[in-house]
Amino acid sequence: MPLSNNYFEDTKYCPCCREYVLYLKSPKASYCADCGAEVSLFSAADKHAFELSLKKEKLRRIQNHDKRVS
Ligand SMILES: [Zn+2]
Repeated sequence: MPLSNNYFEDTKYCPCCREYVLYLKSPKASYCADCGAEVSLFSAADKHAFELSLKKEKLRRIQNHDKRVS
């Protein structure tokens, strides 16, 4: 198998290392391969930005819809 192109995609955020790290999967959670801390899909800041962009997209759709109706 060739080296994966997904190397950088297969990472999660470690609050302990404060960066995206390779992680070990377990049935309940994922853990940092470096320090063993529990990792999450997004950092808190990235999660916030992600949710904000979802909200904006939703708002934009609603506004566009209203324009078409009226
Ligand atoms: Zn770590």
